[in-house]
Amino acid sequence: MNIRAMTEPELADELRRLGQPPFRAKQLFQWLQRGVASYDEMQNLPKALRGQLSLAYPLYAPELARRQESKSDGTVKYLWRLSDGNCVETVLMRYHYGNTACISTEVGCRMGCAFCASTLGGLVRRLEPEEMLQQVLFTQRDSGLPISHIVLMGIGEPLDNYENVLRFLTLVTDVGGMNLSMRHISLSTCGLVPMIDRLAGEKLQLTLSVSLHAPNDEIRSQIMPVNRAYPIAELLAACRRYFEATGRRISFEYAMIDALNDSEDNARELLRRLRGLSAHVNLIPLNRVRESPLQPSSRGAVARFQRILEEGGVPATVRRTLGGDIDASCGQLRRNYMQNQPGKR
Ligand code: SAH
Repeated sequence: MNIRAMTEPELADELRRLGQPPFRAKQLFQWLQRGVASYDEMQNLPKALRGQLSLAYPLYAPELARRQESKSDGTVKYLWRLSDGNCVETVLMRYHYGNTACISTEVGCRMGCAFCASTLGGLVRRLEPEEMLQQVLFTQRDSGLPISHIVLMGIGEPLDNYENVLRFLTLVTDVGGMNLSMRHISLSTCGLVPMIDRLAGEKLQLTLSVSLHAPNDEIRSQIMPVNRAYPIAELLAACRRYFEATGRRISFEYAMIDALNDSEDNARELLRRLRGLSAHVNLIPLNRVRESPLQPSSRGAVARFQRILEEGGVPATVRRTLGGDIDASCGQLRRNYMQNQPGKR
């Protein structure tokens, strides 16, 4: 295991083997979780130990491949090159309640959603826990802005990388590390039902966000292949179980696509399905993806859709789009970058 993915007790075990006293584990954990790029920065550790550690556990820092800053809203998009040459994106968004990092959980994705740029080249590999953590640490370090919120809404399907995501959550909420509140973390899934049930069993206080994008199976199966395995009724039943197990209200994502899922009938059907679920709906005007013919809904259609949900008692917000000028939607920066790098995916 990578040293930055180890918990403090695990580090204590490793250090014991090197003949070190237990208090060193705390120091080492704090440095690692603060995002140092080399052992030389760990000033309160003896030089000999730093030397030993660098031989036994080489420390990696992702390399900044590209950085784009939105002129209009301060959103920053990072493209990180990992130690094997693959790249992933992180987006830093500035909201009134705090700075939010949107991180990737996989290199590529195998879910195949028709509107999403991240899935176009399929899944390359899953990210290790430290690779998720490093996105947060190095985005914070580069920007100098403290990150208080995390959304797992970048490239990849987090529930398709379950163990690594869970270890990442353990690390990033550790009081000796970033010490983030679980309530400030949102995990977004396309709807892998067995994994939602498994997550419910962990009883974490994070927000589960479900990418619904359609009021019925006919439309959803057209744009999200996962719906053929786990149709809407099963997905919503899992959401209900999740709510009962955790007490946490589910948030549904609904990308508004012109003439596909944005009619008033679609809104009424969605309303019928979500009533009584203690749900909240985020309406997101579709981000155009070059390779896809799908177009965003008009502003009027979005407003009508929202009003129908609200009047029916389902709270719905229209997601403010940030970073529109910098390829900030899912997977687009990585894709554009990789297409200009011969020999890489
Ligand atoms: N795989 C997870 C998380 C990553 S995608 C999931 O499916 O939820 C994060 C969110 O962005 C999801 O709601 C996804 O459906 C949405 N999304 C992807 N491409 C989009 C696009 N072109 N326009 C608007 N939303 C998009």
